[in-house]
Amino acid sequence: MQERIWLSSPHMGPEELSYVLEAFETNWIAPLGPNLTAFEAAIGDYLGGGVQVAGLSSGTAALHLGLELLGVGRGDTVLCQSFTFAASANPIVYLGAEPVFVDSESDTWNMDPHLLEAAIEAGIKSGKKPKAIVPVHLYGMPYKHDQIREIARHYDIPVLEDSAEALGSTYKGQACGTLGDIAILSFNGNKIITTSGGGALVTRNPEIKERAVFLATQARDNAPHYQHSAIGYNYRMSNVLAGIGRGQMQVLSERVKARQGNYKVYREALEDCSQVTFLEAPEGLVSNRWLTTILLPDLETREAVRLALWEENIESRPLWKPMHLQPVFSGAPAFANGTSETLFARGLCLPSGSNLTAEDLGRTLETLKKSLK
Ligand SMILES: *Cc1c(COP(=O)(O)O)cnc(C)c1O
Repeated sequence: MQERIWLSSPHMGPEELSYVLEAFETNWIAPLGPNLTAFEAAIGDYLGGGVQVAGLSSGTAALHLGLELLGVGRGDTVLCQSFTFAASANPIVYLGAEPVFVDSESDTWNMDPHLLEAAIEAGIKSGKKPKAIVPVHLYGMPYKHDQIREIARHYDIPVLEDSAEALGSTYKGQACGTLGDIAILSFNGNKIITTSGGGALVTRNPEIKERAVFLATQARDNAPHYQHSAIGYNYRMSNVLAGIGRGQMQVLSERVKARQGNYKVYREALEDCSQVTFLEAPEGLVSNRWLTTILLPDLETREAVRLALWEENIESRPLWKPMHLQPVFSGAPAFANGTSETLFARGLCLPSGSNLTAEDLGRTLETLKKSLK
């Protein structure tokens, strides 16, 4: 059996280990310390726009805190992109609120602004204005920020931007992760850079950052004893893991280029293959191409390709199964148009790591083409 080609595996640079060692040598083995401060500053510098960054234990924790900071609570409804990973929606339920799922548009695969507006209108009509909107830059492709922001402003509903997959993507020159009222990032093992597990909350408002850190560190009031006037969480990022993140930030631009390079290789090699189509970026939108995704004519072909790759020890994965089709959310209201359901049936994520070799891509392409003959 040939060596496994992974969908998206961690890719360390030259400096990560030295920052981790530094944490050990200085005994900063805690959810605070110099690595965490420097990692947060590096993310802020990279994103630009004067944002503040709070390093957290996961992207999911960041979504949970973000929703709470936007005022979401028991009995509220939150509009969430249906075509996403479950972690975009689960924290809505943690807070006792109800997700209402909104389907995608076909040119970005992200939240359809028209359906979003219909969902808001329906909510208002039923006497319950949605409390927040959670759009997602899926696979790194930016959502239609201008349209969604305009709707959000018109109805005065805050946006929690799920940028877990989109570090390095830009919307009309602005970094994804700086577009929402609050944004979140993920540094899980499969993301474009990783701290093995980790996430961040991003905001322009220093008070929101301060409140996020307060809640993430057990909501300890300012007193010599342990005093609490709010319910807190244990969500802060460890200074050891932030050391990995600090090293990863130094190679982030290279990692983005490598992933975009993978996309280009696949795209050019499959130019003449009429059965394979790609998601192209609309004007002004730049995807980090976290994962290269393809659409095949139908479910049977998609499965034939996936299994042929698997036979050759090459990992690929169907696109996200929409939340409104997930058993756990079967009772949740949804504004569906069939787009994400079709994408789920026909779509496949190809090996996309920044550490793939030309040989890996060649082996993947050869197997893929053979399976389509
Ligand atoms: C990975 C991911 C998350 C969750 O991040 P974790 O760090 O794994 O908790 C949330 N939303 C999307 C779209 C993701 O891909």
